[in-house]
Amino acid sequence: MAAPVTITFLGGLGEIGRNCMVLEQDEKLLLLDCGLMFPELEMLGIDLVLPDFTWLRENADRVIGCIATHGHEDHVGALSYLLRELSFPIYGSAFTLGLARNRIEEAGLLGKTDLIPVADGERRMIGPFDVEFIPVTHSVPHGFATAFHTPQGVIMHTGDWKLDLTPVDGRLTDLARMGAIAYESGVRLLMGDSTNADSHGHSRSEKSVGAVLYDLFHEHEGRRIVIACFASHIHRVQQIADAAIGFGRKVATIGMSMKKNVRLAREMGLLNIPDSALIDIEDIGDHPDGNVCVISTGSQGEPMSALTRMANRENRWLEIGEGDTVILSSHPIPGNEMSVTKVIDGLVRLGAKVVHSGLEDVHATGHAKQEEIKTLLSVVEPQWFVPVHGEYRHLVHHAELAQIMGVAPERTLVCEDGDQITIDDDGIRISGQVPAGYLFVDGIVGDVGQGVLRDRRVLAEEGVVVVVVTVSTADGAILTGPEVITRGWVYAPEAEELLDECAAVVTQALKEAFADTTPDHEALQRVVRRAAGRFVSDRTRRKPMIVPVVMEA
Ligand SMILES: [Zn+2]
Ligand SMILES: [Zn+2]
Repeated sequence: MAAPVTITFLGGLGEIGRNCMVLEQDEKLLLLDCGLMFPELEMLGIDLVLPDFTWLRENADRVIGCIATHGHEDHVGALSYLLRELSFPIYGSAFTLGLARNRIEEAGLLGKTDLIPVADGERRMIGPFDVEFIPVTHSVPHGFATAFHTPQGVIMHTGDWKLDLTPVDGRLTDLARMGAIAYESGVRLLMGDSTNADSHGHSRSEKSVGAVLYDLFHEHEGRRIVIACFASHIHRVQQIADAAIGFGRKVATIGMSMKKNVRLAREMGLLNIPDSALIDIEDIGDHPDGNVCVISTGSQGEPMSALTRMANRENRWLEIGEGDTVILSSHPIPGNEMSVTKVIDGLVRLGAKVVHSGLEDVHATGHAKQEEIKTLLSVVEPQWFVPVHGEYRHLVHHAELAQIMGVAPERTLVCEDGDQITIDDDGIRISGQVPAGYLFVDGIVGDVGQGVLRDRRVLAEEGVVVVVVTVSTADGAILTGPEVITRGWVYAPEAEELLDECAAVVTQALKEAFADTTPDHEALQRVVRRAAGRFVSDRTRRKPMIVPVVMEA
């Protein structure tokens, strides 16, 4: 009997984002990614969503490290929160660690971790885990797939990946090595990125975006060009810079993360922009418009970003006008469509020509589509398959693809956040559940909880009614009020009558409450809330938040 291996999914199975899973072998725990998720529209006022750390907290002494597959926020962005409570080393490519380091440093937590760089193809022991790091191509440089050589056979995880046969940096997804592992020892379990599992065909090569950009620079000669893309998408930045320099333009960056990442990538030799071609954003006025290209953050319409500020005429460095062409070299992440359209609208209103992925092929996805997924499955030929990274329908589509490619239906497990699977001599099965709810972050406050969100939703959709009243505890006489104040329920000036009626109903309810007993404070609040609530609901068919403020004298 070989020792069993357990895998716990803490995030990313059922949503895009907050990817986090934990491998367990010989009592030790090794994390694979610890990412955040950007909030959905109905998560009012929430800045970020994190994985639930309850189970990790309870097992803190067994956590020996975290592997970061690549530097995207949905894979490393929660580390700066987990490191507040736990301390462990992080393993990843030098560039991944460089990106992850930023947030950890901002949080003042560098002392809680060691950042340990690993090289392409490296195989190393992390505690009892025998881990191999396999290069994959993605929309950020130097991502890894991982192969865990365990007593239960090889467990492979693709990370975020695509097949790009002409990647900008020439670094291919190492299908050959994956195939060699499959040939040498077989792959017991494969876990694969499902983001594009419901998109047919093959993703386009990142290089094809470069050609489109080149044409656009040609077409818009003489105009100032501003291009927005993800700050971590160094290959895109490279192609933008190449096109700009090719047309005799100087390149300036705008936005904090763009500046930081360009500096980091240039220092590491991952981005080639000669000093002579780079200018400071403060100095773009010294050059004719047609000789300038500005690379900006904000391709997702993020409210505080450089591009959004340009669209709102609030950017300190750049005022957009009729001489500008703005290119959004991106595709809106689901949930961001509205913010992006608003930004485009603002830019067009200012007179700019705007090019986006709906008009030209100015973006290529970083995630494998169906034909790539099938290729990988045909090379790896896993015995078992678990789809990861995706909303539920993506996971199901991915499981179906695995079955088309020959994995037995009973060996494709669609798991969800919180599921624990055990791999032993008998096979693989879901063996337990751990807490995996959403951890909401609002500003610097930690978990604001479901209750707060529920309140915000009621306030947003129904408004609030506050009833203020002072009651004599001796005889129940009403000394002041009830005064009914509202925000968001009815337009107060026109509803004075309604507010007066509500006050009368509350007065009557209080009288009845004192008729046979002397109610305590809580009972008084309840009486007021119920009376006002029933009145509001009966008369207006609405359910605003009712806040009773009962003072006793
Ligand atoms: Zn991802
Ligand atoms: Zn990614």
